[in-house]
Amino acid sequence: MKSAVLTSRPTFMSSIRARSRVSATARAARSSAARIVRIPRPSSSVVLGTKERSRIVEYVEQAMREQRQIVGVSDIMQAHTFEDIPLYDMPERTRAFLKIEDGCENFCSYCIIPYARGPVKSRQPIHIREEAEKLVRAGFREIVLTGIHLGAYGRDLAPIACGDGTERKITLADACREVLSVPGLRRLRLGSLESLELSPELFELIRSDERFCAHLHLPLQAGSDPVLHDMNRHYTTAEFAQLIEGVEREVPGIAVSTDIIVGFPGETEEMFADGLRFVEKMNFSRMHVFPYSRRTGTPAAKRKDQVPEPVKKERVHRMQALADRKSEEFHRMFLGKKMRVLFETKKDGVTDGLTDNYIRVYTGSAVTCGEIYEVEIEKLYKDGVWGTAAEKM
Ligand code: SF4
Repeated sequence: MKSAVLTSRPTFMSSIRARSRVSATARAARSSAARIVRIPRPSSSVVLGTKERSRIVEYVEQAMREQRQIVGVSDIMQAHTFEDIPLYDMPERTRAFLKIEDGCENFCSYCIIPYARGPVKSRQPIHIREEAEKLVRAGFREIVLTGIHLGAYGRDLAPIACGDGTERKITLADACREVLSVPGLRRLRLGSLESLELSPELFELIRSDERFCAHLHLPLQAGSDPVLHDMNRHYTTAEFAQLIEGVEREVPGIAVSTDIIVGFPGETEEMFADGLRFVEKMNFSRMHVFPYSRRTGTPAAKRKDQVPEPVKKERVHRMQALADRKSEEFHRMFLGKKMRVLFETKKDGVTDGLTDNYIRVYTGSAVTCGEIYEVEIEKLYKDGVWGTAAEKM
C-alpha cells in the first residue's frame, strides 16, 4: 500500500488500517486488465490502472461503501496529460525525487513501459516550480528530476512564444531552469536520460550553475551493435562513444553512469565479449548491470533464442566485475581532492552522502545530515570513498 503516502486524507488511512481491505494499483493494469479483473475478490477490492492512481481514495471509499470490487482501468494509450501527484512526504529530507514526465514512445523491444504507461505526458512548468518550492520549504536540499523518458519532456506541451513572433518547444532545460529559480535550492540532479536527447542548452546550464550536479545517467544497455539493433535502441556503440566524448568535452570532470542488460535474446558469447571490450574503453563512473528478464507482451519475450539462465548469471558476474573495476578507477581520480558532499544517513558513527558527481563518501567526522560539507577524500571505502569533513558550505 505504498501509494497511501500520496494522500493525507485521514478517513482513507484509518479505513485501510481498520478494515485491512486491499487495494491495488498495478503498473501493468491496463496491459493485463482482463487477467487482473479475474483476481478473486478477497485479494483485491480495488484494481487501478496507472492513469487512475490519483483517484485511489475515491475508488477505495466506493468499494467500501458499495461492498464490491471496483475496477478502474482505462486506456493508457489515450492518456495525454500528466497526473499531478505530489510526492514530497519522504522520510529523509535531503534528496527529493520530483517526477516531471510519464510515458514513453520508444518501444525498446524488451520493455513493457510504452504499453503500460502510454505516450509522453509532461508536467506543466508552473507545476514543477510549485512542487520544487514545496520541497525546498520542506527542507530538501537536493531535487532529482525524474521521468520515464525524461529527455522527451515537453514534447507534448503547447509551444511557447519567443517574443519575436516565433514559437519554440518547451524542453527539459526549461524544466531545469524552473527548479533552479527556486530560492534556497542547493542541488539539482537529473535522473536517467537517453544519450540521443542531450542538448547544448543542457550542457550550458550544467556548466553555468554550480548547483547543477555534474552527473548524467545515460543508459547504454548493450555494448554490441547487433544487440543494440535488436533492442531497437537507435544508436551504435560508435555513436554512443562519440556522444559521451562530447559530454566530457562540454562539461570537463562530469560523471557518466550507465545501465547494461546482459543475456538479451540472441546475445552470443562473441557479442557479449564485444560488450566487455566496449565498456573497458569507456569511463563510466558507475554501472548498473541487469540480467535480461522477459516481459510478457514485448517482442523480445517472444523470441525463441533466449539465453539460458546460468549463462546470463555468469555474464552478469563478468560484467559486474568490470563495472566494479571501472568505478574504482573513477573513484581513484579523486583521492587527495576536496569535494562537496551532501550527507544523508548516519549509522554506527559513520555518516555517508553523495558528491555532486555521484560518489558515495563516508566519514567519521561530526557532520549533520542534510548539510553540505567540503570533504578531503583519503581512501577507497566500500562502494565509494572515505574522507574527513572540513568546513560546512
Ligand atoms: S527502456 Fe526506456 S526508452 Fe526504452 S521503451 Fe522502456 S522506458 Fe522507453
